[in-house]
Amino acid sequence: MRQTTFDHCEPVTDDDHAIRAALQDAHVPSLMLALVHLTGDLGIIRGDIRPSGDFFSTMGDPQCGITAEHQAHVRDRAVEVLTAYRDGRLRMPPSPSQETVQEMINFIIGQPVAPDYVQFLMAELALNGEDAYLQPADTVPDEVKRAFHVVIVGAGMSGLLAAIRLQEAGILYTVIEKNADVGGTWFENVYPGCRVDSPNHTYSYSFEPNDWPQHFSPQRVLRDYFSRCADKYQLRERIRFETAVEELAYDESQRHWTVHVRTKAGHRETLTANAVISAVGQLNRPRLPDIPGRDTFKGTAFHSAHWEHQHDLRGKRIAVIGTGASAFQFVPVIAEQASKLVVFQRTAPWVVPNAEYHSNIPAGKHWLLNHVPYYAKWFRFWMFWRTAEGLLAIVKVDPEWSEQERSVSAANEMLRIVLTENIKATIGDRPDLLAKAIPPYPPGGKRMLIDSGNWLQALKRDNVQVVTDPIAEITPHGVKTKNGLEYEVDVLIYGTGFQASRFLSPMKVTGRNGVDLHAHWNGDARAYLGITIPGFPNLFCLYGPNTNIVVNGSIIFFSECEMRYIMGCLKLLLENGHAAMECRQDVHDAYNVKIDAGNRQMAWGVTTANSWYKNEKGRITQNWPFTLLDFWTQTKTPNPADYRFL
Ligand code: NAP
Repeated sequence: MRQTTFDHCEPVTDDDHAIRAALQDAHVPSLMLALVHLTGDLGIIRGDIRPSGDFFSTMGDPQCGITAEHQAHVRDRAVEVLTAYRDGRLRMPPSPSQETVQEMINFIIGQPVAPDYVQFLMAELALNGEDAYLQPADTVPDEVKRAFHVVIVGAGMSGLLAAIRLQEAGILYTVIEKNADVGGTWFENVYPGCRVDSPNHTYSYSFEPNDWPQHFSPQRVLRDYFSRCADKYQLRERIRFETAVEELAYDESQRHWTVHVRTKAGHRETLTANAVISAVGQLNRPRLPDIPGRDTFKGTAFHSAHWEHQHDLRGKRIAVIGTGASAFQFVPVIAEQASKLVVFQRTAPWVVPNAEYHSNIPAGKHWLLNHVPYYAKWFRFWMFWRTAEGLLAIVKVDPEWSEQERSVSAANEMLRIVLTENIKATIGDRPDLLAKAIPPYPPGGKRMLIDSGNWLQALKRDNVQVVTDPIAEITPHGVKTKNGLEYEVDVLIYGTGFQASRFLSPMKVTGRNGVDLHAHWNGDARAYLGITIPGFPNLFCLYGPNTNIVVNGSIIFFSECEMRYIMGCLKLLLENGHAAMECRQDVHDAYNVKIDAGNRQMAWGVTTANSWYKNEKGRITQNWPFTLLDFWTQTKTPNPADYRFL
């Protein structure tokens, strides 16, 4: 079994002074639980020193309300314990019982956890090194596994995960990747300031912890992480780089898929596969806006996902269209270079303050993560709860709440007030800007963006102008708004997002009876659990329809759940001698009714604000509206009754 616990810890050899210094950077709630592991003394978490579970009163406070005096008390105890541990004077007690772990979970999240969460949270915590997302296939004979070939489309975060899981199971696979290297979105998006906006300790494979340099690491660090994973698991020899899948066609007589690929040299080749896993992501194909005159612009123009670094932006007049997650990151950087920067904003983003967004993880915290048994486990777990499940209730619609245009519940209104105060604190002295920067829609109506102050400070700069008049056209010299003003620029950057709702495009996908997937979906993609589609046997999607999250969690969590489910499907096939399985239409339809109803109860489902979550028909195609527990439970093992076996 792959170990993911504290056995990664290095021995403590530091002197008392160094230990005390490192403890200054401790996340005290995680430290207290590590001390329980080291001493077995539950008194540490049964006294007055405990983190608050109240989200609002502790927003932006990683110590969750534990006073400085109490923190000092915990650190003193930690020095005693860690020096004893270093000197071999401390014998660690046996692993805590399930009941004790439950008490420890309650402690760190600041409230008693509902009983149905216990199994899920224990698995996520993985204190004993268990791999919570592994679906062992050791009951299937090796020769059966080796005779089964899976094609994975894409070598980004989820495609690599698929390859790792298939490799572990001993199932033959080939990855087809259009780029020259692995990493997907982290390979392609190289715009200035690009970094992850989910905390890295949860935005990483559960089984592959990393010593992250920052809480939210830059693109290069993420790209290198995925590259190292590809090397460590020896995936590269099974990846065909610079090769694009053009067409997938299900052959009913053979009950396999024919995969047509195009190599970099332009040659078309054909592979066959017993199953296909699409790992092409939702945010892969850039979207250029449908604005008249787009092709007439005479200056330099490019999309954020295809950044043209050869252009020196220093001293240039630049226009940026869009204020989504990408523009939010590159605008503060290029604002320092441009002579003039005009930001065209259609919908203002909600900004969530986080002082750690751009900062390095301090040396002491690195030391704790690498040396103190179980500290890293609890720290990841705390992040997981705090930035995931803990947030969902705040964006859920209260049907009794009367102010649905500005907030969706009392808690959501409270969040609105807190976020508004933060905006005012930075740009309150600029009433012109303030009016533009406070979104009219409820927080959570679209993705909230994490900021350590860079964005709002950038908008305030003398050389930056935020334009909210709608764009009428793009001219040879710049951008003209509907009020007739023309903004002349040298460079035009599209931060206009991706063709998110066009899942699996531009691949042509043909299922049973020659049905074309895109014609079948007709702009309104659906799948069962986001993974399987009736009429398309043995086609599995990662990050498929309705598996995106707005506030709660890391998309890697979803991919890990989905891959565990897919491995369960393959096991069902191989154990029982079936060639293929196809989701039942009634199961798929009933599931999607629930998804739509769920999305209508969330802030993003009721707002009229623009977002890439809605497809051209206005339906929320991207988002999972329920808890992480729900997704974890529903994808744990496939129910054979949901499928037809062929
Ligand atoms: P996006 O969120 O879709 O933002 C696109 C922006 O362009 C929006 O402000 C949109 O305005 C604007 N826009 C589009 N068409 C327009 C038009 N015709 N006229 C004026 N404005 C127009 O795209 P993104 O910023 O690339 O981010 C997409 C997603 O990628 C994010 O939500 C996130 O999930 C992911 N992402 C993650 C990270 C990270 O983790 N580091 C970084 C970047 C992106 P409206 O809002 O009015 O539509």
